[in-house]
Amino acid sequence: MDKTDIVLKPCPFCGGEAVYDKYQSCDGYMNEGYTHRVHCKMCSAVIQDFSEQKVKNWWNNRFEQPNDPLTTEEVKQMNCEPVWINNFEDSTSCWAILGTSTKDGIVLHDIYCSDDFNDYGSWELYNVTWNCYKHKPEESN
Ligand SMILES: [Zn+2]
Repeated sequence: MDKTDIVLKPCPFCGGEAVYDKYQSCDGYMNEGYTHRVHCKMCSAVIQDFSEQKVKNWWNNRFEQPNDPLTTEEVKQMNCEPVWINNFEDSTSCWAILGTSTKDGIVLHDIYCSDDFNDYGSWELYNVTWNCYKHKPEESN
């Protein structure tokens, strides 16, 4: 099946019509410079990724395939990779690059964060005050 044949389901929030498009972006380096996006015509629901097929499958499968937080073991093996950081305490969340991992925690090189973002993640506090995801979780607002 051609990847463009994936039929988008209606928006899970409002039942509106879902629309696929792609746009050229400076950070869409993984797929010929394009970021692929599915959004709802009625409300502000939107997801995007560097793969057309992935973004369409995500849109259709969001209830069945939640974006679970990474385990600490997974995080330790992702040196230099980008992750979505959730900070429970002050609800600052952002993309960061994983840095050096130690037995106590890991350095987080924040890239788009607010100024008060803590740039060191403690393993003890993982899933207590912070955790991280491979992909940005769905917006809840
Ligand atoms: Zn909608």
